Amino acid sequence: MKDIAFYDVKPYDKMYFDALSPLYGFNLRCFESKLHEHSAVLSQGCDGVIAFVNDSADRKTIEKLHSFGIKVMALRSAGYNNVDLKAAFGKIHILRVPAYSPYAVGEHTAALLLALNRKIHRAYNRTREHNFALSGLTGFDLYGKTVGVIGTGRIGRVFIDICKGFGMKVLSYDLFPDENAGIDYVSLSELYKRSDIISLHCPLTKDTKHIINEHALSLMKDGVYILNTSRGALIDTEALLTAIKNKKVGAVGLDVYEEEEDFFFEDFSGEILEDDTLLRLLSMPNVLVTGHQAFLTKEALENIAKETLQNLKDFFDGKPLKNEVCYRCEKYGTCIQNHEQRCF
Ligand code: NAD
Repeated sequence: MKDIAFYDVKPYDKMYFDALSPLYGFNLRCFESKLHEHSAVLSQGCDGVIAFVNDSADRKTIEKLHSFGIKVMALRSAGYNNVDLKAAFGKIHILRVPAYSPYAVGEHTAALLLALNRKIHRAYNRTREHNFALSGLTGFDLYGKTVGVIGTGRIGRVFIDICKGFGMKVLSYDLFPDENAGIDYVSLSELYKRSDIISLHCPLTKDTKHIINEHALSLMKDGVYILNTSRGALIDTEALLTAIKNKKVGAVGLDVYEEEEDFFFEDFSGEILEDDTLLRLLSMPNVLVTGHQAFLTKEALENIAKETLQNLKDFFDGKPLKNEVCYRCEKYGTCIQNHEQRCF
């Protein structure tokens, strides 16, 4: 049995990992703490690490883990922007779960859009108070509207298909467009100018940080809806707040938030949040925030557990690592090793 340090454990993912890990030959040492420079010491004596989206695998953390002889970190997520890939290269193999259920995230994005447009969150509160008045709840037909999708990977394509099902027109932008996919690609500025709804499905990289900024917002239609189920820092939140206040932006659905690390996945009921920006977002009737739950379906959780454990097993069995990422993968879009070998 290999010992694996499992950080930021939550009951909903523990039940799937506990059921499966013995079958893969792993003994999990579960920690509620997030992974960071100081909690890295908990993995001393372990053979590998399992981490999640708000764990921090920065240079110092990587070096500590490496000094304990750890050579593999399996992320139970698709995104890997929380890992210093350059620091990890040559020391720790970084594995991820690229596609546990694009449907979970695509469908949650659609849920945010439908709830915002038809004011379901407000209607729910009203009817619980026996208030059946309709004023202020007017939406619009999605049919015939134009949605702009930034990032046409697995999740972006699921969301595109859902939107097409509603009879919407879809415009897309991708740094690496798939010209054979029947997707209508336009430039970013054209997408901003023509879309009634904009949805973000690209990863967070140096290039995409604050892709939605003051300039981008200025190009958009008045009353545009913005959806982000990807990563919080794709949006400059202060610029977004100004645009909401100026009524440039009509509604916002966020499953992710720039500074979510300190809050999301935890229960702060009854406490005063020490984040004025998040408080302002939460106070607005046309902003709907969910706490990074787009992935949270039974199917996704089971797939995450299976794929994470299989990734680790492949590593320990000396097999090629099809789900490895390194800084070169990020730079070139696809790994120059093509995942037929290991990245290093
Ligand atoms: P993917 O790799 O299949 O697709 C990402 C797409 O973005 C690719 O087509 C890529 O070419 C494109 N892209 C890369 N750089 C770009 C740029 N600068 N501009 C425009 N497009 C660019 O990834 P996916 O599985 O579709 O996931 C998308 C993102 O969703 C992930 O990066 C992750 O951050 C986020 N995610 C969120 C949750 C959640 O629970 N909220 C769950 C899973 C994934």
